Amino acid sequence: MLSDARLNLPPGSGLPADDEGLFARVYSWEEAVCIGPPGMFIAIADIRHRLRRDIQYLLLAGDYMRVHSVNGALVSGIGAAEEAAQL
Ligand SMILES: Cc1cc2nc3c(=O)[nH]c(=O)nc-3n(C[C@H](O)[C@H](O)[C@H](O)COP(=O)(O)OP(=O)(O)OC[C@H]3O[C@@H](n4cnc5c(N)ncnc54)[C@H](O)[C@@H]3O)c2cc1C
Repeated sequence: MLSDARLNLPPGSGLPADDEGLFARVYSWEEAVCIGPPGMFIAIADIRHRLRRDIQYLLLAGDYMRVHSVNGALVSGIGAAEEAAQL
């Protein structure tokens, strides 16, 4: 992903030329699980449908747009980036 991002850097980007200087933070919680109420996926699909239909050039990404998980957040970010690349 970083090498792809470096192919088309916007002016003034702070992305380093190599992977040095990147950092990670680790947060720890008690065990928990994210629970979605019944009808959640239908509501999310409806939001995504209405966004595409009614608001041009607004792309949203985050776990609230897919399944509540890191994977859901990643998939929604990749989807939004792919849609942005096609504008
Ligand atoms: C206790 C717990 C355990 C979990 N365990 C797992 C697990 O085991 N596996 C798994 O896949 N997922 C797990 N999840 C879910 C996972 O953490 C989330 O789905 C994922 O982090 C969502 O990523 P995101 O980037 O969409 O949102 P977030 O990580 O919530 O990032 C949103 C960011 O936006 C910032 N923000 C919010 N409002 C504003 C504002 N108005 N202005 C500026 N910034 C703002 C927030 O501060 C935050 O930094 C867990 C979640 C919790 C709470």
